[in-house]
Parts: sequence; C-alpha cells; structure tokens
Amino acid sequence: MTHLMNNYGERSITIVRGDGAYLFDEFGKQYLDFAAGIAVVSLGHANPDVTQAIATQAGAVIHCSNLYQIPGQMRVADRLCELSGLDRAFFCNSGTEANECAMKLARKYAAKENQLRTKIVSLPGAFHGRTLGSLSITPKKAYQDGFGPLVPNCVTPPSLEAVLAEVDESTAACFVEVIQGEGGVRVLSLEFLHELENKLHTHGALLVIDEVQTGVGRTGTFFAYEQMGLHPDIVTLAKGLGNGVPVGAVLATSQVASSFEPGSHGTTFGGNPLAMAAAEVVIQKVANKDFLDHVCKIGGKLAHVLSQFGENVSGLGLMLGVDIPQAKSFVRSAAQNGVLLTATSDERVRVVPPLIVEDKHLNDFVNRLSHLQSVRSK
Ligand SMILES: *Cc1c(COP(=O)(O)O)cnc(C)c1O
Repeated sequence: MTHLMNNYGERSITIVRGDGAYLFDEFGKQYLDFAAGIAVVSLGHANPDVTQAIATQAGAVIHCSNLYQIPGQMRVADRLCELSGLDRAFFCNSGTEANECAMKLARKYAAKENQLRTKIVSLPGAFHGRTLGSLSITPKKAYQDGFGPLVPNCVTPPSLEAVLAEVDESTAACFVEVIQGEGGVRVLSLEFLHELENKLHTHGALLVIDEVQTGVGRTGTFFAYEQMGLHPDIVTLAKGLGNGVPVGAVLATSQVASSFEPGSHGTTFGGNPLAMAAAEVVIQKVANKDFLDHVCKIGGKLAHVLSQFGENVSGLGLMLGVDIPQAKSFVRSAAQNGVLLTATSDERVRVVPPLIVEDKHLNDFVNRLSHLQSVRSK
C-alpha cells in the first residue's frame, strides 16, 4: 500500500475472486456484489463466455495498434451503429476518454462552420470523467479544485433553466446523462430533455449523450435515451461495454464524424483485439429482447425492495438510487454484512448489480441486510 498514491484513501476489503453476482475476499468471505465494479460487470464475474472469448483472443493476438485493421472493431462498430441508428464508431479505453473524444469531435465539427463556436455546456450534477477535458464539464468542486486552469469555454450553469439559456450560436455541444449516475441516479425530465434537444438543434449545436453508465442494457434498453425518444448527434459508452475489460466507444452521425480525418485523433490501445472480443460477447448477450425484458422486470422488483430501506427510490432498470441517511456508514455496514453497494453522497445509495441478477439474489440481499435494517429502525 505504501507505494500507491493515496487518491483512493483507505481500502478495507481485498478482492481476490468473483463468480456471477458474488465476490470473495482474501479470507474467503463472500459478498453479494450490487455495485458490479461501478456498473461495469453486467454479465457477472468470471462469466464463462467472456473468459472463453478473451482467452481465445489472447491466444491469437492481444494488441497490434491502430496502424492495422482490426476485424473485431468492424463487427462491434456495425452492431453499435445498428443499435443506435448512428453511423460511425471510434474506440478508446474508458469513459473519460470517450467524452474527451466527443468534446474534440464536437469542437472540430463546429469549427468547420464557425471558429467562434467553441462553448461546451454541461448540467449541474453532471459527471463526465477526470481527465482535464471531461473534468472541465464535471462541475464538482472537490474534483476540480487545484487542477485549474481547466479547458476554456466549458460552462455549467447552476440550474436546468440556465442550461437552456446558455445554448446559443456560440455553443458547440451540450453533454447530458439522461440519468445522472454519480449525481445520485437522478432521472432528468422528458420535458427538459426534449426542450434541450430542440434548442440545441435550432442553434446548430450538438446533443452529446453520455451513456457511459446508463448504456449497454443497464436501464432495460440498450441505450437509456431510447426510452426518452431523443436523437443524439454523439453518444459515449464505456463501463458496461467490456464486462470489466477496459473499453470505451464514441458513436456519431456520419455528418459529425466526417470532421475527423486521418491524424485528427487517436489512441494506442483503443479498440484492441482483446477489448473487442469482450465487447462482442457483451453486445451479443445484452442486445436481446429477453435479456432486456429481464433487466426491466427484475429492476422493478429491486426498486420495490429498496423502498423498504429508504426513500425516493429512482432510476430505470438496474440503475437505482435510494435516499438513506448516513449513506456512507450504511454502505460500510452493508459490506460487513456481505453486500457491496456504493454511496454517491452521504444521503444517497446507488444500487447497480450485475444485469444477470435473479429473484434469489434479491432475496439474498434482503436476508443479508435485514439485520442491518432492524438495527437501523430501532
Ligand atoms: C464513470 C463515468 C464516466 C467516466 O468513466 P471512466 O471510465 O471512469 O473514465 C463518465 N461519464 C459517466 C456518466 C460515468 O458514469
């Protein structure tokens, strides 16, 4: 521990193994994992099909760089474009990189028409990542403090009305999470989202939907924005796309994507054969009506379970949040009782289990936490 930087603070649990919805620590203690590596491991830990696919790929070639054509990239791009209705894909390694690429793409596209169109708008409560670009559109003091100057002309107005007012002829793009994950699983209203989309398009600005957390089946449809009837120009993906193998993606219309030419943007690792092998399996399993119906159905049941633990349950599918007083201490107690959860603030617990959870896992959740619940209600 002493040679690691302290940015994650003290970590009290050491994970050595996983199996489906369960993780095991160094002493063999079993945890029901309702955090899923922060909404990542959607098909469950040590999923045999993912393991098989990446093992086979590792035996063939792991990496060759983007100097060469990678067949897996073409296949994953085909599927993601088919599912989104967008036309082009770019692969990277994480959510922040996907948003970084989207910021560059939006500015490059805007600059073709008007050099002064550089403003990037984000929403109060947004989280788009930790690199300097995406940090500049992540309006959280604790994350931004000490890292300035940030990227110029990135603005985050304090209210949704002010966001709408910021959209004008100098706006390149607005970034939106239709459900704010780090912001506490806050679902934006349909009315606001449609008003924003209209305003952006009226002013020739792009709608970028950050589906890093909501995407790849998490909310019961492949992309969350499908449920809102939106038409993004750019979509970013990452977390759930590789079941834990690092991979991100940026999808765009052909019109927008055409502003990238050879040399405009790149990455050494992005879209390498290993990452594509994982993503192919994930998409094949998740982009399936029965699978997505299951997410909706079990998500409804989990929402009901959570309402027994706290108030203001919100979210869609298996992306849920609940108000619980002293959320951080609740999460610690839950871990002691063998359930892994995350807190997005000291009032809000986020519940994002693997998408393969079944009734028996919900029962296990209640059994493991009933002791905690009874202690709390005394
Ligand atoms: C997690 C997250 C990111 C950042 O992803 P990293 O892979 O951690 O860089 C960006 N946007 C949203 C909505 C996220 O939830």
